[in-house]
Amino acid sequence: MERTLSIIKPDGVARGLTGEVIKRFESNNIKIIAMKMISMNLAQAEGFYAVHKKRPFFSSLTEFMSSGPCVTMVLEGENVIAKNRELMGATDYREAKEGTIRRDFATDIEKNIVHGSDSPESASFETGYFFNSFEIVG
Ligand code: GDP
Repeated sequence: MERTLSIIKPDGVARGLTGEVIKRFESNNIKIIAMKMISMNLAQAEGFYAVHKKRPFFSSLTEFMSSGPCVTMVLEGENVIAKNRELMGATDYREAKEGTIRRDFATDIEKNIVHGSDSPESASFETGYFFNSFEIVG
C-alpha cells in the first residue's frame, strides 16, 4: 500500500475541474483518505517546491501556485504514486497520452491542472507538508 499527495492546482479549481479530477480517482479505484482546500501564500508555495529552486520557472510556478485556492488530497492504494501519475499524464500536455487529465484539460506547461508526488520520498514530504495524522482517515 502506498500513499501520495495530489493537488488540483489553482487553474483546475478556477476552471471547475475539481469534480472531474476526483471522479477520475474514484472510478480508478483510488481511495481518497484526506482532502482539503487551501490557499498558499508565496512562501508556502516556495517551501513546497523547494526542490525546484534552481529551475528557471521557479518564481513563475510559485506565483501561480499561490494565486488562488488549490484542493489537496492524500490518495492511497497499490502503486498509487505511479497510478496517479499515469492518470495525470506528462508534465507537458502536448506529450501527455490520450485520456489523461493533462491531455484532456491543460493548455499550458505550467498551468497543468494537477500535481502528483513522483516518489515515495516526495510523497512522504508532500503529504506531511499539508496534512497531520489526525486529518488522514486511513
Ligand atoms: P510534474 O512532476 O509533472 O508536475 O513536473 P515537474 O516536477 O518537472 O515540474 C513541476 C511543475 O513545474 C510542473 O507541473 C509545471 O507546473 C511546472 N513546470 C515544469 N516544467 C516547466 C517549464 O518548462 N516551464 C514552466 N513555466 N513551468 C514548468
